[in-house]
Amino acid sequence: MSRNLKEILQPGAHVVVVGLGRSGVSAVRFLLKLGVKISVSEGGCQESLAGDLVRWLAEKSVFVETGGHTAELLTSADCILVSPGVPLGIAPLAAARQKGIPVIGELALVKDFLEAPVVAVTGTNGKSTVTTLIGDLLRGSGRKAFVGGNIGIPLAEYLAGPQDCEVVVLEVSSFQLDSAGEFRPRVGVLLNITPDHLDRYASYGEYVDSKMSLFKNQQPGDVAIVNGDDPVIAEWLSKKENRQSPWPLRAEIRLYGSCGMAGMMACLRGTKVMISMANETGRINEEYELADTPLSQAPNSENAMAAILAVRAMGCSPEAIRKSLDGFTPLPHRLTLVARLDDVFYYDDSKATNVGAVYSALDGMRQPVVLIAGGRDKGGGYGMLLPLVKEKVRAMVLIGEAKEAMAKAFSSSTRIVFAEEMDEAVGLARAMAEKGDAVLLSPACASFDMFRSYSHRGEMFTQAVSRLGEC
Ligand code: ADP
Repeated sequence: MSRNLKEILQPGAHVVVVGLGRSGVSAVRFLLKLGVKISVSEGGCQESLAGDLVRWLAEKSVFVETGGHTAELLTSADCILVSPGVPLGIAPLAAARQKGIPVIGELALVKDFLEAPVVAVTGTNGKSTVTTLIGDLLRGSGRKAFVGGNIGIPLAEYLAGPQDCEVVVLEVSSFQLDSAGEFRPRVGVLLNITPDHLDRYASYGEYVDSKMSLFKNQQPGDVAIVNGDDPVIAEWLSKKENRQSPWPLRAEIRLYGSCGMAGMMACLRGTKVMISMANETGRINEEYELADTPLSQAPNSENAMAAILAVRAMGCSPEAIRKSLDGFTPLPHRLTLVARLDDVFYYDDSKATNVGAVYSALDGMRQPVVLIAGGRDKGGGYGMLLPLVKEKVRAMVLIGEAKEAMAKAFSSSTRIVFAEEMDEAVGLARAMAEKGDAVLLSPACASFDMFRSYSHRGEMFTQAVSRLGEC
């Protein structure tokens, strides 16, 4: 971008906000503060907008187009602010870009409008958990932190307010990174890369590049915290060493992963996180015991390593971190044990909307599993799960649009049955589970074909399980 955004977003400039979800509304609030002329373009129909919202926009003289995005409106803008849910390739955005109009997401605002340093977390899985944990550890260390982005409160909402925090911790999705402009986190955390969202990317390579771009604008002195066990990330980094990467990685790389691997700054020994780092006086070694915390098991033990490295890079003390670790409350619908009935354990892992998350759930299960999976396919294929399904899955209950495709992928590895809705799925799972087994809802798919959201799907599962207890 040749002109900086502060110059473009002057009073009187015309800015179009594309998408009027939560982040779009926050973007409008931020832009009102700048005194620019605002229009909104929303794909949904007028009736889908809340009456209060429509009245508020009218009061603020915001022009609203609904039912689709027109090139006429978008190409009349000086700048376009897109919400993460809007694909960047749609024709009216392409037309605007061709006219030289900057098309940005909220992360692009960081460079010119955010005062505090940023810790940004991305990866296919674990983002919400690690972002929340980093926020907890910072606050436990006495630092005033804003936590948001792709989780909870949008960044634009914080930018619209008094900006009264010392640190901003952001969960960052690949869609947000694709419109992030010159976003430069002080500390970037990359947890893992496995296939996801391949319905929106032309190839897996594009998705990998999108994730890696978290580090693209970092400079010497910034820190890149990276899962050293992840083969996809390792391959990308080896390209860097061979000078084949599309851009130079300038930040200091801090790896975490298996003990015994060369170059790890943090690794897990049993339930202990071991850190070894250089300082001015030599090497310092630190230990963090996770055994009595909710982070003692994979994948949360890995997430803890990433979070500890991030807050150490922000200057938190080991003592303060140790004190805060056991206060962490795991987020719901992520491998949550919801019931134990007749010696069968029921886990709600509804947030597992891709194969990587299901892999990690199955990998951590010590007992045979009856797996409830399926929903809306995200295009990545299921091959990665085959060995673990063979080894651990006693039977699979498939639901939703993807059930035929999944049955085809897994029929030679385990027993498969179909269900039409959640109560039936849970009933079938119970019938097939044996004493000591786990019934695991870990769908590997999006929820929108049958449910309002992943949390709605998880709640339906928990309710169906509790009805089993009443029988
Ligand atoms: P995200 O925000 O990236 O979706 P969450 O913390 O919400 O991540 O977890 C999403 C899913 O991924 C859950 O099923 C959870 O159990 C699983 N998960 C959490 N951390 C990891 C990890 N480090 N590796 C693989 N799967 C993980």
